[in-house]
Amino acid sequence: MKITRFWTATVFAGLGTMAFFATRTQAVPNGTTQIVPGVWFREGDIKNLGHCNNVLIEMKDYLIVVDANFPSGARLVMEEAKKLSTKPVKYVFDTHHHGDHAYGNAVWTEAGAITLAYKGVADEMKRYEPARWLSTAKERKDVGDLHRDTAEPPKQTFDKSLFVLKDSTREVQFRFLGWAHTRGDAFVFLPKERVLCTGDAVVNGAYNYTADGNIGNWPKVAGAALKLNPLHVLPGHGEPGGPEILTGQAKFMTDLHATVAAAVKNGKKLDDLKSLTLPDADKNWVGDGLQAQLKDAFNEITQNKPTGDLPHK
Ligand SMILES: [Zn+2]
Ligand SMILES: [Zn+2]
Repeated sequence: MKITRFWTATVFAGLGTMAFFATRTQAVPNGTTQIVPGVWFREGDIKNLGHCNNVLIEMKDYLIVVDANFPSGARLVMEEAKKLSTKPVKYVFDTHHHGDHAYGNAVWTEAGAITLAYKGVADEMKRYEPARWLSTAKERKDVGDLHRDTAEPPKQTFDKSLFVLKDSTREVQFRFLGWAHTRGDAFVFLPKERVLCTGDAVVNGAYNYTADGNIGNWPKVAGAALKLNPLHVLPGHGEPGGPEILTGQAKFMTDLHATVAAAVKNGKKLDDLKSLTLPDADKNWVGDGLQAQLKDAFNEITQNKPTGDLPHK
């Protein structure tokens, strides 16, 4: 079933790309769009393939890819890179440690790229692996087929809040702005072009996964990203847009935290959370994950620790 879906999606990816150039201004799953000259956004098919979005950045002599994706996603992005440019992919930046962003690392390093991340990504892998890799390998053929016993950590890490790659054509900043979605979250910012890649610290739609997160701190991280004054915001999941994605994400997390905090103050228990709703303005971010998000917020507030710091798998 999964394999059939994969090939169907791959075949239609080509058709989808053509249709996109003819008629659409928004990205589509498996479609690639140029954001500014030399910077392309590829929307991953999260629904059918579990893939994250990717960004390809052209430097003078090489390409940078934002996020390794799952192994099958990595291969699709590699094909895309060859279509877009004759330059090799030199760096692949993991925005965080989750499988849909980092389990393709071994595929990229095998092809000669250097995987790069904020140090917190390697630390998170030490914390959660090999358990997550092993359980994902049973569910996903592309992960299982690598026959590895754990995730491949990024080959190069930086531990300051800013790391820069720069040549005569472009400056690319890699920035750690605090713990939101994971302890290792980092953003990619192009100051001249004002393009910001957010990973899952900021998503455009009901894609927030809070279990490894810090809900109380999340709006501060989105706020720090907003201070960079980006024009183009390229999220880890969902369609690209502008700074309104950052403010919407921050408001969703603020409202999630405040709604649960008010309920806790009124003596509500975990079971009472089911009836809670968030303001209408948050609806782009509200979906099937809401109950899990409310529970994570409840645990964070009642145990006075980031939800990601509480025992979980
Ligand atoms: Zn993701
Ligand atoms: Zn994630």
